[in-house]
Amino acid sequence: MQHPSEIQIEPTPAVHSWTPRALYIHIPFCTNKCFYCDFNSYVAAGQPIDAYLDALENEMRLTVAQLPPTRIDTVFVGGGTPTVLNPSQMARFLASVQKHFPLAPDVEFTMEANPGTTDMEKLAAMREGGVNRISFGAQTFDDGLLAAIGRIHAAQDVVQSIANAKAAGFTNLSIDLMFGLPNQTLQQLRDSVTKALGLDLPHYSLYGLKVEENTLFHRLYQRDELPLPEEDDELAMYEHLMERLSGAGYRHYEISNFARPGYESRHNTTYWRNEPYYGLGAGAHGYAKGLRHINIKGVQPYIDAANKSLPLLEQSRVSLEEAMGDFMMVGLRLQTGVTQLDFSRQFEGAKLEEVFGPALKRLQTQGLLEKQEEPIGYRLTPKGVIFGNEVFGAFV
Ligand code: SF4
Repeated sequence: MQHPSEIQIEPTPAVHSWTPRALYIHIPFCTNKCFYCDFNSYVAAGQPIDAYLDALENEMRLTVAQLPPTRIDTVFVGGGTPTVLNPSQMARFLASVQKHFPLAPDVEFTMEANPGTTDMEKLAAMREGGVNRISFGAQTFDDGLLAAIGRIHAAQDVVQSIANAKAAGFTNLSIDLMFGLPNQTLQQLRDSVTKALGLDLPHYSLYGLKVEENTLFHRLYQRDELPLPEEDDELAMYEHLMERLSGAGYRHYEISNFARPGYESRHNTTYWRNEPYYGLGAGAHGYAKGLRHINIKGVQPYIDAANKSLPLLEQSRVSLEEAMGDFMMVGLRLQTGVTQLDFSRQFEGAKLEEVFGPALKRLQTQGLLEKQEEPIGYRLTPKGVIFGNEVFGAFV
């Protein structure tokens, strides 16, 4: 890594240099810390939230001065739990986004939320401020499992939160579900899926539990005190999820995501297509003009830095080889896979088979990847969807 000040904003040769049309903003506060969470998030009580929002607005000002946006098609406010902001903080934060970024008339504006943090007053402030999509962290509908992973909501809170969101006029709603939780059984998962589908939402995200370092679960795992399901059971859960959601008419458009037509996450599709995005807020990542950056993570260090200049922790130029590998790794997560056309648009006419010929052949022979003719490109086979990590690892 170079020190941020040593790098100028100039495109990496042969990597596209489009101005981002996607904007990610990080709100790093949560009501509590879940046992599996390694995200950049802090318990909100006692945090200088108003000072954080001031610093964030300053980062918005500095960002658009350095790399002026032409049009923003998608905004994603993640965390943390952005809905821990109170209604007036929410209104003020959303007004600053609208003030600094030129949002397209049909912008997809997503906010992450946790059940129990969205009363009608806050939902109204969100609607008023331009939010038109909410992604709720439901995780499971089993109260015992919720408590065992450190979530503070109950299953009924999810049902109530979705009802509130619908009553406030939100139609583009999603929930996250987790599988592979400690002591979770296939029957518990079945019941959760039934309840989740009963909510009749246009989008569902499914995540297998990963034990990350610096979490309570990691410490338990090291002491052999985390009763995770066997690999085969976890696989059966994933297969069950695929079967149920596909059976209910949802398209498995990305490894972890299902949607009704027209409700695919446009913002996350930016990441999967390896396209650039602004990233603001403590610990946020951004990618523009061939440069990736990470912001300073701690709340007060971020505030101190962002009040003076762009609060960069690290910034590095992405090499052509790395960018091409990233394109494959993230693009193959999509059910539509990667296309020759997109590859040559991003890398000045480069050809997939000239760059990745041996890996593509091997993965086809292994039955993990298939070639498509219209449009020309590659995508995962059903077996490749199950063993996705083997495919992605081939392009690191
Ligand atoms: S709510 Fe989300 S970001 Fe916050 S601690 Fe839990 S998993 Fe982490």
